[in-house]
Amino acid sequence: MRPARLVVLGRPGAGKGTQCQRLARHYQLPHVSTGEMLRALAGTDVGRRARDSIDAGDLLADDVMVEMVAERLGHDDVRRVGFLLDGFPRTLPQAEALPGLIEPATIDVAIHVEVAPVVVAARLAGRLAGSQEQQRRRDDADDVVARRLQLYEAETAPVVGWFADQGLLATVDGLAPVEEVTARLMEVVDQALA
Ligand code: AMP
Repeated sequence: MRPARLVVLGRPGAGKGTQCQRLARHYQLPHVSTGEMLRALAGTDVGRRARDSIDAGDLLADDVMVEMVAERLGHDDVRRVGFLLDGFPRTLPQAEALPGLIEPATIDVAIHVEVAPVVVAARLAGRLAGSQEQQRRRDDADDVVARRLQLYEAETAPVVGWFADQGLLATVDGLAPVEEVTARLMEVVDQALA
């Protein structure tokens, strides 16, 4: 298969992480999740500085994120087979930086996994209630969830429009069982790569 360069967008709680894991496995693509990359830095200086913003539901600075993604997208595996970007770009400046990070290649498709705000808010409240104390993501607390959703509408929703303007956007209804959403996503990816 030729390299695939995919972006998955969606509100916090839309099931993006789960779907990206499934897609990455199916298409054998490096899953480049900025949230995971930041959490993996926990013991380091950068990680400690990032933690306050993450715990507050805030976004990290664009230049930090662009640099981190640029580094990852420069690796051999990505150059060979492509990537599945999860959690980036989250702001317009990040979106505008992306083409420069991968040129002369381009994104095949950006897929928006769409789930309404009221639904994701309820899902995230459930994630908090259902999780073990130790495993609980601190950014799932009520006030932080509200902040993350608010920032999504302000900063990330315009990114969806930006991909639409480039003719690269596909939208998939995320309100269905996990397998069903995966099947819909695969249909979109297969079409984009055909
Ligand atoms: P996620 O696991 O994608 O929900 O990311 C967890 C947290 O990491 C976010 O709430 C942000 O604080 C931070 N983060 C992840 N990706 C980005 C990004 N592209 N830009 C800014 N902050 C980010």
